[in-house]
Amino acid sequence: MQSPKTVLIIEDERDISRIVNDYLRVQGFSTFITENARDGLQGVRNRQPDFIILDLTLPDADGIEVCRELRTLTSAPILILSARSSDTDKVLALGFGADDYMTKPFSLSELVARVQAHLRRMADPKLQATTQLLLRYGTLSIDKSARKVMAGQREIALSAKEFDLLYFLASNPNQVFTKTQLLDQVWGYSAYVEDNTITVYVRRLREKLERSGIKSAYITTVWGVGYKFDPDETE
Ligand code: CA
Repeated sequence: MQSPKTVLIIEDERDISRIVNDYLRVQGFSTFITENARDGLQGVRNRQPDFIILDLTLPDADGIEVCRELRTLTSAPILILSARSSDTDKVLALGFGADDYMTKPFSLSELVARVQAHLRRMADPKLQATTQLLLRYGTLSIDKSARKVMAGQREIALSAKEFDLLYFLASNPNQVFTKTQLLDQVWGYSAYVEDNTITVYVRRLREKLERSGIKSAYITTVWGVGYKFDPDETE
């Protein structure tokens, strides 16, 4: 059996830290709590937790600053718990290295589901970024290092996220991804992007491919599930 994943809870409100702690333990996690930023940072140095739940308002430091400092110490996913629900806080936290954001009051089962999803993604080699730098399908070529997509000799102009989406799909051919997975992989988190973002991006990508004479059917809709890159859809 795998050893249990360790979750660090940095939270000064004991009512909250205790129920989160108990709930995670019931789900098979190993946990520890610190009640301020200083002990939290020390805990990360000493015990290298697999996941960090961070309260944004701590007695000795601002959570956003703590988040930034945690990022220099660990690559473990960080989920922010906050009583503040403003968009600015979300943007700041996610910009400073947090992976997810939940506003108090929150659902415990939702919290655990997110912890599990982040840890699963980190452990799943299929969902890790591929290291293959140049992908070719028919006349379509995608160059990761130059961030260039070519239709034969002609470059297809894509935005950064269009490129990321195409590259991610094309580097995992025949694998179906849900919209949530694509948001997680391409945008880095799912909490802060509009629901129809993927639909819009896929439509734009298909149009651009088609205009350049590439079969847009490479990006296949799997009804009720999501999308996949289908290399057999050649012209
Ligand atoms: Ca607090």
